[in-house]
Amino acid sequence: MGEIAYSYKENLYINLTNRCTNECVFCDIDILGNVVGSDLKIEKEPTSEEVISKLEEKIKNNNPNEIVFCGVGDPLLRLKTLLEVTSHLKKNYLYPIRLDTNGHTYRLYPNKEVVAELKMRGIGTAYVSMNATTKEVYESICKPTLPDAFEETINFIKKCKAADIKTKISFVSRFVNVTECEDFAKELGVEYFIRNFIPRTNSVL
Ligand code: SF4
Repeated sequence: MGEIAYSYKENLYINLTNRCTNECVFCDIDILGNVVGSDLKIEKEPTSEEVISKLEEKIKNNNPNEIVFCGVGDPLLRLKTLLEVTSHLKKNYLYPIRLDTNGHTYRLYPNKEVVAELKMRGIGTAYVSMNATTKEVYESICKPTLPDAFEETINFIKKCKAADIKTKISFVSRFVNVTECEDFAKELGVEYFIRNFIPRTNSVL
């Protein structure tokens, strides 16, 4: 049974789902699990009560710098649960809360003001997996299962910035040109960082 909440370095990470609306060519749950030292494969997606109970247990033993909703999987696919957990955290603790996402939010919830709700419930920082500076490259490496995912991701980043959520976009080293990433982030008015590419076993990439 995988971990629904795990400590890594100084942070506490919450693992709500393994589902995602991308199928990135570099995504590997076993590799990430090895990096963070936890089994990330969850057999059953947890309820908000289960997550809160696990968080309480972890917080008692550890005093994290930050609490992060993360993958492997996109936490926004569990929006209701995520908001219930953030509400609990906001009410009871002062920990900064971060969301790591692929940013397909408004394609998933076209009639909801998701960013305003995230902000209101305590999300202070968003790390958005941009991964590419053009639609063509995005589609070839992220293999989105939703239409217009590249544009949706940019839309989400702009909305986060407008809502005063501290927003950083990420790229993966194997697939990008640093100057292009820098220009792209500058144009959006956000910070960026580049994650190391870790090849899968037997990968041809
Ligand atoms: S967006 Fe993240 S979780 Fe989804 S497939 Fe890509 S690397 Fe994996």
